Amino acid sequence: MLVEYTLKTPRADFINITPQVREAVAKSGVTEGIAVIYCPHTTAGITMNENADPDVVRDLLFGLNKAFSDRAEFRHAEGNSAAHLKASCVGSSATVIIDGGRLLLGTWQGIYFCEFDPPRSRKFYVKVM
Ligand code: ZN
Repeated sequence: MLVEYTLKTPRADFINITPQVREAVAKSGVTEGIAVIYCPHTTAGITMNENADPDVVRDLLFGLNKAFSDRAEFRHAEGNSAAHLKASCVGSSATVIIDGGRLLLGTWQGIYFCEFDPPRSRKFYVKVM
């Protein structure tokens, strides 16, 4: 089963999409399998990290901005090479095991859509099998 979701992203952010992924798994009826969460964009990504303290994703974004700042040496005419670098760093998908009909996430783990080049209309997919 494949489910498409859309997002409006007014600012650079890590958006917790764990509820949507749980919903897709529940709709699928799959109790033992995997969920692939996939982002079809080149300046956004998918990652998994802590969902308890919101300062963690704030610090991730801060660190990525420090590591991949805009540079005069970039040639890409769109002017968003730093966003492309961040997207490649976090990757475009995550895979989570489904066990007993539930996502096998750690206590502190959440699934995030990572926006690096706002504002945008985005989509992501959840494939449950
Ligand atoms: Zn670009």
